Amino acid sequence: MKQLKIDKIKKKLRHHLDKERYEHTLGVMYTAAAMAMVYETDMNKTLLAGLLHDCAKCIPGEKKIHLCEKYGLPISSAERQNPGLLHSKLGAYLAEAKYGIEDKEVLDAICYHTTGRPNMTLLDKIIYIADYIEPGRNHAPNLGEIRELCFADLDEALLKILEDILLHLKESKKEIDPMTQMTYEFYKRKQSEE
Ligand code: FE
Ligand code: FE
Repeated sequence: MKQLKIDKIKKKLRHHLDKERYEHTLGVMYTAAAMAMVYETDMNKTLLAGLLHDCAKCIPGEKKIHLCEKYGLPISSAERQNPGLLHSKLGAYLAEAKYGIEDKEVLDAICYHTTGRPNMTLLDKIIYIADYIEPGRNHAPNLGEIRELCFADLDEALLKILEDILLHLKESKKEIDPMTQMTYEFYKRKQSEE
């Protein structure tokens, strides 16, 4: 299918996201756009990734599992227990199938926006960080610091977010996605080598 333009995507998304999620989506899109200005990533790709990163978020859990099975997307045991985790990979699939996005960079940024991955692209990092700091977010610790940091040093901001997320998961005794841990270790090592 032909790639939809930004305004068409917005209209379509309104039917698939609740109001709160739609507002969050716009927050991520514009926050990512501000970072794209600083780090000179392709603006259109950034807008598309920001807009579509949570396109599968409001699908009910059971249906997420059903759709992943139907489309042949792998489901880990952690994901089966907590289907919410599937929204990123299912989102990347739907961005391609239902919104016509073919650009691999955009699809990857959607796919890895919850866990990150070692050796992230610039767009991966921007979407990951924007998701955490967009103006509607107000619960995470160190938000002020991270909001400032992300316009000065993207990798440092990324590492701080990963550190805070892992700490929070450990403190609340929640399961840690191995990919989040791997991403953290990758960037921690990178920092110590610099
Ligand atoms: Fe998400
Ligand atoms: Fe999000």
